[in-house]
Amino acid sequence: MSDPLVRAVNVTKSFHHQEVLKGIDLEVDTGQVVCLLGPSGSGKTTFLRCVNQLEGIDGGRIWVDGDLIGYAERNGKLYKLKDKEIAAQRREIGMVFQRFNLFPHMTALENVAEAPVQVKGESRAAARHRAQELLDRVGLGDRGTAYPAQLSGGQQQRVAIARALAMQPKLMLFDEPTSALDPELVGEVLAVIKELAGEGMTMIVVTHEMSFAREVADTVVFMDGGVVVEAGPPSQVIGDPQHQRTKTFLTRLR
Ligand code: ADP
Repeated sequence: MSDPLVRAVNVTKSFHHQEVLKGIDLEVDTGQVVCLLGPSGSGKTTFLRCVNQLEGIDGGRIWVDGDLIGYAERNGKLYKLKDKEIAAQRREIGMVFQRFNLFPHMTALENVAEAPVQVKGESRAAARHRAQELLDRVGLGDRGTAYPAQLSGGQQQRVAIARALAMQPKLMLFDEPTSALDPELVGEVLAVIKELAGEGMTMIVVTHEMSFAREVADTVVFMDGGVVVEAGPPSQVIGDPQHQRTKTFLTRLR
């Protein structure tokens, strides 16, 4: 067995003395999809942001592909990484937010091509070529010249996914990628994420879409109040939850 791609051990995080992550343990194997479920305020987004170093953690450790996130460990002591080293770690991780956050003054194609040029120093021609391939992959091959405002929310979110993929990440994090969309646009975004999963992309997806979690997740993790209440295959956690808190949450969703 190879090591998991993501390993979080006893991760804690507080905001203004309020502990929102109270010792999270979580593992994601390469090629696996983990769906994080749980009521609003349970710490799901904070956890994703910690994995991507948009937030620092107060305690515990997170490794991605064997690298300790945010720190170097020497002689049993932890040293904070330099900004440059943190940026290098972050480049390996793609993140898709609830709101699409596209650059409004750039076309869809330019949005996707931008980071490889700016961050990786790829040639503009090569980056645009790959961006076109990625737009094809998310079903928007013919919308490359459109600006975000000319696209539907579902299309914008698919561009955002293509943009994250352009950096060739080892891991994709999705933070409620469909919750800002009109209901009729949810399916097209989930279909793209499902296809990515089918191609073996490792991902953590915060979602309230139960049918997606059931169908696509290898592991479902139910969080509440900053702890993992239960985790396992969807058939178990969604189909036959063991904890009252999970049962209550699932009943409310129905
Ligand atoms: P979820 O994604 O499960 O809805 P969050 O991770 O967004 O939960 O939030 C967990 C808790 O942390 C909430 O009480 C939220 O208000 C608080 N929180 C999140 N981000 C911040 C922040 N930047 N500053 C202060 N409190 C925050």
